Amino acid sequence: MMKTVDIVVPCYNEEEVLPEFIKVTNEVIATLPEYSFRYILVNDGSKDKTLLVMMKLAKEFENVKYISFARNFGKEAAMYAGLEHTTADLVIVMDADLQHPPAMFPEMLKGIEEGHDCCALYREEKERKDGFLRRGFSKLFFKMQNSMSSVKMPYGAVDYRVMTRQMIDSILSLSEVQRFSKGIFCWVGFDTKWIPYENVERTIGTSSWSFWGLFKYAIDGITSFSVSPLKFIFILGVLLFFGSIAGMIAIIIEALITGDFGSGYATIVCVMLFIGGLIELSIGIIGEYLGRVYIETKKRPIYIAKVKNIEKNEK
Ligand code: UDP
Ligand code: MG
Repeated sequence: MMKTVDIVVPCYNEEEVLPEFIKVTNEVIATLPEYSFRYILVNDGSKDKTLLVMMKLAKEFENVKYISFARNFGKEAAMYAGLEHTTADLVIVMDADLQHPPAMFPEMLKGIEEGHDCCALYREEKERKDGFLRRGFSKLFFKMQNSMSSVKMPYGAVDYRVMTRQMIDSILSLSEVQRFSKGIFCWVGFDTKWIPYENVERTIGTSSWSFWGLFKYAIDGITSFSVSPLKFIFILGVLLFFGSIAGMIAIIIEALITGDFGSGYATIVCVMLFIGGLIELSIGIIGEYLGRVYIETKKRPIYIAKVKNIEKNEK
């Protein structure tokens, strides 16, 4: 029987690139007649005419489905909405901006044929033209993520992958609102084959990620999958506690021997600042987790769709 493949594409202000994306992807699809493809485009509250473009494409191609959000809910929510509407045997997740080359489809699908549950791509380092700072932080993020949590992913892992129905169902069973897909994809386990690909520069439109946005994304990733920062505070507290006791004993002994308590305002101020800083830092880390708990307890929907031409469980 012919295998079905749903392609989930989150789109935010992609009116210029979308027609090109469908055109290029259709060319690749034409070379894979043994699969039947369907697009699930998710308009994440774009400010431009992305929705109109989607509607036009849906008229032109009957395998184009779309879901349009009531506002911008973020890429994670868009991916979730798309995944929730998939029914195919296999699901591909990719960006709309052609930075995830559709030409990789044959190789990815081959991985599934070989028996893997998932075929995911990572960007080869030499191809990255990001600034020095951005690259440094990005490296640091992958290092921290991998060392602090049980979820491991290669450096340069992107959200471009193909997964089996079974894996998609497992991903959807994770109902957290603050979704960090990179981690969730790895957390559910299954057998993933990692394929390198050459990074493509965005030709049309602009990336919607600011440096600060990426920084917050990294913090999200770490706090979603690891409680090591909380343990770090505890260990720091223990070290400081015993350290200060040792210091006090040293001062008393010195005073007993020399009979002089000396004066050390500078030292005292330094120590107070140090401890104050640590307390602030610790409260900040606790606050980060507390905030996450607070948001999760509200059990809000991950997205709200306004218009769509596809229902859940629609084949
Ligand atoms: N995107 C989205 N919602 C957002 C921001 C981005 O759905 O709030 C989509 C965007 O349309 C694209 C993908 O997520 O298909 C990746 O975004 P972008 O190209 O801006 O990120 P980068 O490639 O720089 O990581
Ligand atoms: Mg991009």
